[in-house]
Amino acid sequence: MNLLEIRNLSLVKDGRPLLHDISADIWQGYVHAVIGPNGAGKSTLAQTIMGLSGYRDIEGEIRFNGELINNLSVDERARLGITLVFQEPARFEGLSVPDFILAGAREKRLVLVDEALRVVGLDPNRYRSRAVDKTLSGGERKRIELASVYAMKPRLLLMDEPDSGVDIDSIQHIFTVIRELKAEGTTVLLITHSGEVLQQADHAFLLCAGQIVDKGPMDRMLDYFNGQCAPCTHVGCPDI
Ligand code: ADP
Ligand code: MG
Ligand code: MG
Repeated sequence: MNLLEIRNLSLVKDGRPLLHDISADIWQGYVHAVIGPNGAGKSTLAQTIMGLSGYRDIEGEIRFNGELINNLSVDERARLGITLVFQEPARFEGLSVPDFILAGAREKRLVLVDEALRVVGLDPNRYRSRAVDKTLSGGERKRIELASVYAMKPRLLLMDEPDSGVDIDSIQHIFTVIRELKAEGTTVLLITHSGEVLQQADHAFLLCAGQIVDKGPMDRMLDYFNGQCAPCTHVGCPDI
């Protein structure tokens, strides 16, 4: 079953065609990667699915759970259970850690705070009374942001290069959150430049110059990280 169906999606922004005739089925409960060289349109695709302003004037159809969502606002899409995690997450200075973690959660239960902290490897007893402020290290902040994504239980999680600029330890926690959410039924669209991150996916799409030029099971798509990139040599595949 498809949670998300994209049909003949095109987007022109400031006179430039950024997405061209994209069709994709995002199967419910699977982790799908989107790979492709810099400038391929990966972030644009995620922002278009989320419906951010400037990314709404599209051709084609985006269906979520069978419903056409082209005309829904970001808030309406969020209420359906679609969440976008940016490369650089937003900062909420001063909120308590529990308030921050529960901000986007449907169920505001404190046990969920503890569970989410544990999933990202933080001791609830040490972090429950902390605030999201300068006293947290970069790594702690990243983990608490991941805990908030976990607590949100999105139906569709769009992650844009979640590994960029994070240490090895945090990458493992990103993987844990993806696995735990998948086990609870979340569908994930995972944008990445990294073969290691791609290995967390079941399936992948290769995006080049705004078009899907290949798709397939993760293990075959890993070949693109071994210099085998015939479908999109025109945009310099080795840089995937
Ligand atoms: P990727 O995430 O795959 O690296 P992006 O989606 O960020 O690629 O960008 C795709 C293309 O769209 C790039 O050529 C980029 O320069 C261009 N682009 C991105 N944002 C805008 C914008 N706001 N206006 C015009 N062009 C943009
Ligand atoms: Mg990029
Ligand atoms: Mg990008």
